[in-house]
Amino acid sequence: MPTAAAISPEILAKYQPVIGLEVHVQLLTRTKAFCGCVNQYGGEPNTHCCPTCLGLPGALPVLNKQAVEFAVLAAKAIGCEIRETSIFSRKNYFYPDSPKGYQISQFDKPIAEHGELFVPDGIGGTKRIGITRLHLEEDAGKSVHDGFADSVNRTYIDLNRCGTPLVEIVSEPDLRSADQVFDYLTKLKEILLYTAVSDCNMEEGSLRCDANVSVMLKGATEYGTKAEVKNVNSFRYIRSAVEYEIERQIGVIEDGGRVIQESRLWNNAEGRTYSMRSKEKAHDYRYFPEPDLPPLVVGPEWQAKILRAMPELPEPRRARMISEYEISAQDAMTLTATGAFADRFEAAAKRAKSPRRVANLILSELTSRLRLAELELEASPVSLEGVVMAADLLESGEMSSKMLKQLLDMSFANGEDFPVVYEREKPQQISDASAIEGMIDEVIAANAKQVEQYRKGKKTVAAFFVGQVMRASKGQANPALLNELVARKLDELGPL
Ligand code: ADP
Ligand code: ZN
Ligand code: MG
Repeated sequence: MPTAAAISPEILAKYQPVIGLEVHVQLLTRTKAFCGCVNQYGGEPNTHCCPTCLGLPGALPVLNKQAVEFAVLAAKAIGCEIRETSIFSRKNYFYPDSPKGYQISQFDKPIAEHGELFVPDGIGGTKRIGITRLHLEEDAGKSVHDGFADSVNRTYIDLNRCGTPLVEIVSEPDLRSADQVFDYLTKLKEILLYTAVSDCNMEEGSLRCDANVSVMLKGATEYGTKAEVKNVNSFRYIRSAVEYEIERQIGVIEDGGRVIQESRLWNNAEGRTYSMRSKEKAHDYRYFPEPDLPPLVVGPEWQAKILRAMPELPEPRRARMISEYEISAQDAMTLTATGAFADRFEAAAKRAKSPRRVANLILSELTSRLRLAELELEASPVSLEGVVMAADLLESGEMSSKMLKQLLDMSFANGEDFPVVYEREKPQQISDASAIEGMIDEVIAANAKQVEQYRKGKKTVAAFFVGQVMRASKGQANPALLNELVARKLDELGPL
């Protein structure tokens, strides 16, 4: 696999890479941006179309309210300010998959600006990445270059995607390495998934990224000329493409050449980028305000209503969970891998005697077994309800941790949820009062200090005796009876 001409670490170290990202995100609206056609991936080619999204003469666009609300939600989640009155513009260009001959987009008055995201800076701190703008626009159709008998000399057009609502999120040229690019995209995607405005499915093109890359000598005050790497469909490939592009440009400069402003395509099989078209003469899109759409006004009331749908975002949520469940940052990452799982976890944990124990059970006993079985958390044979039940049984002392491990092993071996296994395998309960009393007497005799505390009025010490007897009975003592008998026995001793 040819790579960029090998550049020595000393030469690499002379240069500062500079990267800015343009991310296109399809919104999960039911219908398209400006017409009533269904907004759905795939389908028989050219069946999700109407005169409006085909750009037939006389057809008029009507803005999708849901798309506006999703755009506002996404924008706020990445710290943008909302522009109360934004303007749609026509971006004119000819391309076969865009039958109107222009794209409805936003130009100088986008719906949102001035956001930010924070990424690890690579030396233990965080770096702020400015977000220039988030604007609403529509997607184009697709040119289909292969899959047909005559694909060698023909290209087909599928216009189903025409008019799909998008937000474009443009970053400042604040990124300084391929790793930062990867982290920025990962964070952005996570936030978008939390707000549920998009499925961010990269294979289906719901999230697409163009990376603008330049290099300059360290300490230089002016950015170098950028090249734009288009449409790479995985974050790992984007990282590779940016790494390649940085080295390519340094190579060009070191050889005495100059970097050309152009669009380039990443070829993953070859691990390199190729020039696609020169952008030397900036495109003239002849932007002008869209005459068929009025200015978009999102006033304070509408904004407030939209923001009621704002979920707790991943980072604040993790910070809260770290302190609430006394878990590590890494563990908080695991529990919040998806917003949906985090929601279900927290709902379940709330019902448990000790939410913290539920978290720890998931992170230790459950995760280790899932890893062995090569299963995702979502596919666990033990449900969250099962984990809550197990945690409560541990908490009350009705089940030993040794027994828990055995029962979980059975759950995983049989694909049965914990409550099923527990009901079948649970120890026979001892409900014979005299047998339990005998065990209580032994524990009382062996723990003079705790007995004294109790008699001096510290009634909570009763739980200690209950726990000891539960353990002694291997979890078999009837818990209600045990509680009652412990209290009676201790009270019989009288106060001190
Ligand atoms: P264009 O007019 O070519 O579209 P923009 O100024 O709109 O350029 O910027 C597009 C993207 O390129 C933004 O994400 C921006 O941060 C990034 N960018 C601009 N200049 C540079 C540069 N010199 N190096 C790397 N990225 C850059
Ligand atoms: Zn349509
Ligand atoms: Mg631009």
